[in-house]
Amino acid sequence: MITPTVRDAAPRLGDVPAYLYDLAALDAHAAAVRRALPEVELYYAVKANPDPELLRVLEPYVDGFEVSSAGEHAHVTALFPRGRLALAGPGKTDAELRLPHHRIHVESPNELRRLLATGLEADVLLRINPGLPVEGAALTMSGPFGMDEAGVAECLPLFTARVRLRGLHAHLASGLDAPALLRLAERLLDTPHDEVNLGGGMAVSYTAPDDVFDWAGYGRGLARLRRPGQRVRIEPGRALTAYCGSYVTRVVDVKRVRGAAFAVLLGGTHHLRTPVAKGHDQPFAVLPTGDGPGVADEPVTLVGQLCTPKDVFARDVVTSVRVGDTVVFAMAGAYAWNISHHEFLMHPRPGFHHLRG
Ligand SMILES: *Cc1c(COP(=O)(O)O)cnc(C)c1O
Repeated sequence: MITPTVRDAAPRLGDVPAYLYDLAALDAHAAAVRRALPEVELYYAVKANPDPELLRVLEPYVDGFEVSSAGEHAHVTALFPRGRLALAGPGKTDAELRLPHHRIHVESPNELRRLLATGLEADVLLRINPGLPVEGAALTMSGPFGMDEAGVAECLPLFTARVRLRGLHAHLASGLDAPALLRLAERLLDTPHDEVNLGGGMAVSYTAPDDVFDWAGYGRGLARLRRPGQRVRIEPGRALTAYCGSYVTRVVDVKRVRGAAFAVLLGGTHHLRTPVAKGHDQPFAVLPTGDGPGVADEPVTLVGQLCTPKDVFARDVVTSVRVGDTVVFAMAGAYAWNISHHEFLMHPRPGFHHLRG
């Protein structure tokens, strides 16, 4: 769960809390994912983590980037001026509809009309919301995303020589394993459209970090399902970058309140919101750098410095911990710092360190 590189570097960081990114691990992971998907185009969903150092590592392995705002578009364009971008996101503004793209994922008939009104050329994938049964997902993207069959039918006659229909886009759920994603892909690829973007949502398990997504099985399955000549694209976020990031901090207090043991850590979930957002215990390791008071081998709740009972990283996890110990939260490379409410309590920002091997 925590690489030897991170285990070695974490106790030697001067100031904590800090984010540590293992770029060598990310490079190896991205290379393996790329190898597993020889016949599939791979885009990275930038919203999972837009850190420029991570994007630079990913860039040689991906065919493009999926961006969901003008901000992400400008960020990626500045890093890779010739990069291929898929422009996505519900509620695109007129200014966003004018941004250059390789593909634009249109979310509604009205959005398509506004795109046509720009007078610019566009290469469109219609984002569909087909109401397929999705089992075992952490999150299903139904509701406002994309359009149903009636919405698609309304769009079809609107296309012109300049605003071209290239195919379909579907991002139906997050947290699916390879067999579940392949069952959806079987339905989604059974279409006359020559290009289909199957979205992201590959599962990452925070309770069993070693249960990693079966990229090889997914790649073999897609190769089998793909019609000759059909362009198949995926755009994972979390499953590419979650593993390479850690949030490192230190224990400032260990206490017992009505029998329950708590370790209070520097920082908090305003730096690492993931366990609150997803309602899980963030996986962690305690490195014994401390010599203060502590508890041994008992259920401990790890909290941060925020003045709210919601500031919990992990609840009642059996561990040993002392004041001064270093705590490394794993799987903090996606939807972690960039989804957190940094300004709460006006703490200093964490440091950011990028390990190159
Ligand atoms: C968030 C998102 C992704 C990436 O999802 P992950 O669960 O991080 O793989 C891909 N496509 C779309 C449209 C998204 O909204």
